[in-house]
Order: sequence, then C-alpha cells, then structure tokens
Amino acid sequence: MKRIVLRRFGGPQVLEVETASAPDPAPGEVVVAVRACALGERDLQVREGNLPVELPRVPGREACGVVVQSCSPAVSFCEGDEVVLLPALSCGACLFCALGRDRACARYRRLGIDHDGALTERLAVPERALVLKPQGLTHAEAAASVLSLACAHEILMRAKLRPQETVLIMLRRTDAVAGAALQLARLLGARVIAAAEDDEDVQIAQSLGAWNTIKVRQADLMDEVRKITVRRGADVVVDAANDPVVFGCVAPCARIAWLSGRGESCTVDARRLVDLGLTLLGAGEPSRAQVLEATGFLDRGDIDAPRVHSFPMERIIQAQRAAESAGAFRRVVVENPDA
Ligand SMILES: [Zn+2]
Repeated sequence: MKRIVLRRFGGPQVLEVETASAPDPAPGEVVVAVRACALGERDLQVREGNLPVELPRVPGREACGVVVQSCSPAVSFCEGDEVVLLPALSCGACLFCALGRDRACARYRRLGIDHDGALTERLAVPERALVLKPQGLTHAEAAASVLSLACAHEILMRAKLRPQETVLIMLRRTDAVAGAALQLARLLGARVIAAAEDDEDVQIAQSLGAWNTIKVRQADLMDEVRKITVRRGADVVVDAANDPVVFGCVAPCARIAWLSGRGESCTVDARRLVDLGLTLLGAGEPSRAQVLEATGFLDRGDIDAPRVHSFPMERIIQAQRAAESAGAFRRVVVENPDA
C-alpha cells in the first residue's frame, strides 16, 4: 500500500509518497481502507514543525473510509461499513474517557501528530475510534466536514452559546472550523458577525446567513463590531488566529474561543479579562459524542458540506499548496478511490 511520510519539517516538498506493508490489526482493532483525508490547518502546522511531532510521521487526521478487516469476533463494525475516523485515540476505559475529556487520558494520542495518521491507503485503529459516515455525503465531503463541524460544536458547547447571543467569527484562509462554527451558531439561533480577509469568504458567509459581515483590513474590526452591536460587543468570539484585538470586541462575560495554536504567543489583556469577567477557551479535539452529533447535523441536512477540491495521493505536494490558500469554506482532500 501507499502512504505519505514526513521525514523532515519544511515546505510542501518535504512530503514523500512511499510503499509500506499493510497493517495487521491488534485485538479490538479494525483495518480501514482510507478513501478520503482532508488537509487542514493542523496538517500544515505538523509539516512546518509548528507542533511537537516525532519524525518520521504519517500525517493526516480528518479521514473516512471503509472497514475491510476486523480482528476480534465481537466488533461493532462489519466489513463494508463506511466510517469516519476520530481525530484522537484514547484508552476508552478511564474516568476522563468516561467523562468525554479524552484529552486528559494518559493514553491519549492524536492521529497524524503523536500517532501515524490517515494519509495512507490502509490504517488499523481501535473500533471505538470510528463512527458511521453520514449517508448522504461522499467520502470526500464527509472527510471535509465531520471533524471541523465536531470541533465547532465542541467549542460552542464549551462557550455555552445561547440563542440571541452575538457571535463574532473570525474566518481565516486555512481554517475550516470557523466556517463550520458560522453555520452551527446560526442553527443554534445566534446572531453571527463574520469577519473575513477575502471577498469570496465574505460572500459565502452572507449566503450562509451571517447577520453582518466585516471585510478585515478595510475596516477597523473593533469599531465595526462596536457599531454593529450598539457598543455592547460580541458575547462569543471564535478566532482561528489568536488575535488579541478580540479583547476590544467583546461584551461583559464574553467567551473567547481560540482554535489554532499557531504563533508563539500573544498578549492577553489581563485587566480586561478580569474587569469584564471574560472566559478564554482553547479548542481541543472533539469527543466521540461530539463527532456523532456532527454526523447527525450532516445526516439531517442542517449543515452544508464545504466545497471540496480533490487530489490523488501522488499529488500531495500540490494538495498541500492548495490547502495553504483554501479559504474558510473550501477544503482540499486527498482521495484514494481504489484503496
Ligand atoms: Zn482514557
């Protein structure tokens, strides 16, 4: 089988296609033929060396495929089942896993970061790391939408978003989670202000029902948000770039959710944090329950899948270049139709 391997950090050209033997499933594991793997912001950070990754590493974390082999006789998934992979593996048995706080599990490993990922034709994973694919979506659409929507759901639930609240969503070129958060916040009854860098993202945000849009760089973000909210500010901010400007855009008791770990550090306005009683949230990987909720939204047609641009595995370098400028509502997917 073919897979992508990262042996050194750098630009897209550091990624290599290699041949490897097919995985042998351990007890409780199944082998998935990976049909589609979306490339996102964290994949770019892995390649650039912006996350703590041991090399060599097979990248890829947002994937779906078909179960082709199971080892244990008592598995929940059968050969031929179409499945979405969870982004992280955990023990499934400790208190933290039971509470849905998988990140705190001592055996927590993230696909494509601390564990070989899904840019491969075959992958062996514990069956608890799978959920059924939404039926109405292609593999490419499911890979491009389920995980970003689950991440958006995770962060909006932790932010305790209420209907009628105002959400400021900062759309960034390489981040799909903020795009998913826009649709989900609308569905939850919130008023969305979408701030975007390019015209196409502004237009798509409007077509998806954003209450107001702001073209970043043409307007002063803080002034615009204050004007739109009649000086009150936003109740929730979802930002993919950890921009401290958001401290000037928030209402008292606001929740600020940062999606990306990109950038070394930034200044937190501690006086404003305490004075306004703000909450700062760092987005984590979604739990199995949140991934299942995301598949439910997509199955019911409540949320639209993003537009997909597909590449074969041999064109991984071009795919990564395309992912660097994908836009908030367009996803790049590596497809293996014959895996
Ligand atoms: Zn655990």
